[in-house]
Amino acid sequence: MKSAHGNSNVTELLARAQALHHDLRFENVRAWKERNGGLAVGYLPVYVPRELLWAMNVLPVGVVGGGDQVEIIRGDAYYQSYICHLPRSTIELGLNGALDVLDGVLFPATCDVIRNLSGMWMMQFPDKYVHYLDVPQDFDTGVGGAFYRHELLEIAGALEARGARPLTDAALRAAIAAYDANRREIEALYELRRREPWKVPTHELYLVLKAGLVLPVDEHTMMLEDYRRLVIRDDARRPLDQARMLITGSFCEQPPIGLIKTLERAGCYIVDDDLVAVHRWIRGDVASLAPGQPPLDALVEAFLRNGVPSAIRYIDQDKKGRDLVERVRASGAEGVVFCAASFCDPALLDQPMLVGALDAAGIPWTSFKYAENTGQFQVIREQAGTFADSIKLWSGA
Ligand code: SF4
Repeated sequence: MKSAHGNSNVTELLARAQALHHDLRFENVRAWKERNGGLAVGYLPVYVPRELLWAMNVLPVGVVGGGDQVEIIRGDAYYQSYICHLPRSTIELGLNGALDVLDGVLFPATCDVIRNLSGMWMMQFPDKYVHYLDVPQDFDTGVGGAFYRHELLEIAGALEARGARPLTDAALRAAIAAYDANRREIEALYELRRREPWKVPTHELYLVLKAGLVLPVDEHTMMLEDYRRLVIRDDARRPLDQARMLITGSFCEQPPIGLIKTLERAGCYIVDDDLVAVHRWIRGDVASLAPGQPPLDALVEAFLRNGVPSAIRYIDQDKKGRDLVERVRASGAEGVVFCAASFCDPALLDQPMLVGALDAAGIPWTSFKYAENTGQFQVIREQAGTFADSIKLWSGA
């Protein structure tokens, strides 16, 4: 039986998501531009307000490096050896023409590496639009909010100058509604996974989330709805005796899918994570945040009030780790796996404070690092498997 949107089975749907994952020349973005005549603008992790772009008929395209599919030939020459992998493969994609379809790229203020990458992009691709999105770390509406508003209007002005539709309140409201629907559907999937993780294996969810980096938002929401409907009624998905884990630290450079599969095969049900974090960066609906005000105010308030606690967002020292402990409780996780990209300063500098919070709460944890192109998982399998077994044997869960 066909689902409401045309995916007749989960295998077909995942094949589509997998094809998008492997398409590093962004053919679907090219096709969208031909169909719609709009611009396509890339964005680096972790968060940009995609609603603003979409309201101007600009397709936001998530750029998360080349994963394990790109051979780095020139990218290494741009960076020292002791930084993460994502910027090398991103610049490689730029230099080999894979990102030519993008009319510009937004570089959010995630870390120094991404800031430096924005400077390289300006020099390498002088004809493309480049904006370093300097997000506030002050969350007062009149201070950080005013600054952020100014940043958003500057982006809107630059896009309009390059041929995008002018930003209007009506279009921004519609775009916010579209992304709110997308966030609700993603939250519904995460809720289903918390309840019945055997229905939503994370290596599948990961592909479906990644598809949302390149698909128009409405199309992605339909894919999410289809996936949830199909897996709910799939009785072949039966529970196994696995340990429930929360994985954290993977908010920027993304782990290879083989690593996610390895964790699952090692006996872990992943019941919460920060993978493909742009989708869950804002908690809850945006539309309701500034009633009676222009929709741009709601977008600003969403960033100030409803952004998730994270290593790249200012959090008072005494609150560090509180959110992680709450997420462990809410997800019913029995342990935490710190799973961060090698040399990821934001994730790794926060880790000791998060470990302190977990230790104080009596929550077991383990940690390892990866690169997006890691290909050997045996050591991780042994470590994760031992951790999962020890939880099952000795946690009393
Ligand atoms: S993986 Fe970490 S260090 Fe590398 S670009 Fe992302 S946030 Fe920065």
